[in-house]
Amino acid sequence: MRDFDYKKSLGQNFLKDKNVIDKIVGAPDIKENSLVIEIGPGAGALSIELVKKFDKVLLYEIDTRLKDILDDKLKEYNNYEILFDDFLNRDVLKDIEKYDYNNLYIVANLPYYVTTPIIMKVIKEKLPINEMVIMIQKEVADRFNATPGNKEYGQITVLLQYFFEISKVCNVSKNCFIPKPKVDSSVIRMKRRDNLLYLKAFNYFEKLVRDSFRFKRKNIKNNLSDYDLEIINRVLLKYGFDINSRSEELSYEIFVDISNELSDKKM
Ligand code: SAM
Repeated sequence: MRDFDYKKSLGQNFLKDKNVIDKIVGAPDIKENSLVIEIGPGAGALSIELVKKFDKVLLYEIDTRLKDILDDKLKEYNNYEILFDDFLNRDVLKDIEKYDYNNLYIVANLPYYVTTPIIMKVIKEKLPINEMVIMIQKEVADRFNATPGNKEYGQITVLLQYFFEISKVCNVSKNCFIPKPKVDSSVIRMKRRDNLLYLKAFNYFEKLVRDSFRFKRKNIKNNLSDYDLEIINRVLLKYGFDINSRSEELSYEIFVDISNELSDKKM
């Protein structure tokens, strides 16, 4: 890869540390008849381990310059498919339709510039995944697995924690990549919750959460002044909070409860 012209604009920081690769690939609980999606295989540092561990591997790579490199790296395996396209533009459910699988995973060292769009796509398109193990910017990882009351806790934390149990696998030094990125990284594991809380309307929940965190320093009463504050207060009191509390203090379960109480009225 010495002559490869890495594109910063595509988030091309390739892994070179075998220890980190082993930690990533060792993190998911791989069950029978598995299909794994890797977004951005790059030169295949992770992919070569994925084809060994998973039954089937589907790779999405935006950069066609990597075709020969990937073909060569994976030449001894036949349990993979590479789609040279922008993951964000794909109909992924359609792409995986033809696969026979029982357990679906995403394992990737993500291109950081599209971390949130990728994760939101996975949620919104209801990809039936068991687990995601992803390398992302450390700062973003800290937001994803923050607990209520923590300053990193925010809108994205609540949305993701509704769907996933999130834990950190490890932090990763800048020296583990070529070229060396400017930011620190972490690997996180996002395991789909076995029993999702009943949610009447996801779109309503998403809007409520977004509005709740609109102004960081403001409380619920101010951020949700357009909503039925009486109902919200009634729900909050059950949990020992009220409308003078701040969104950062509230667990995702409380937002689900509020959303369910309110969405009836709006729909
Ligand atoms: N998996 C490799 C590794 O760990 O060495 C490369 C990871 S690198 C951080 C991110 C990869 O994602 C790059 O290969 C880049 O070309 C690819 N990429 C960037 N944007 C993409 C997109 N929208 N869809 C698919 N791949 C993308």
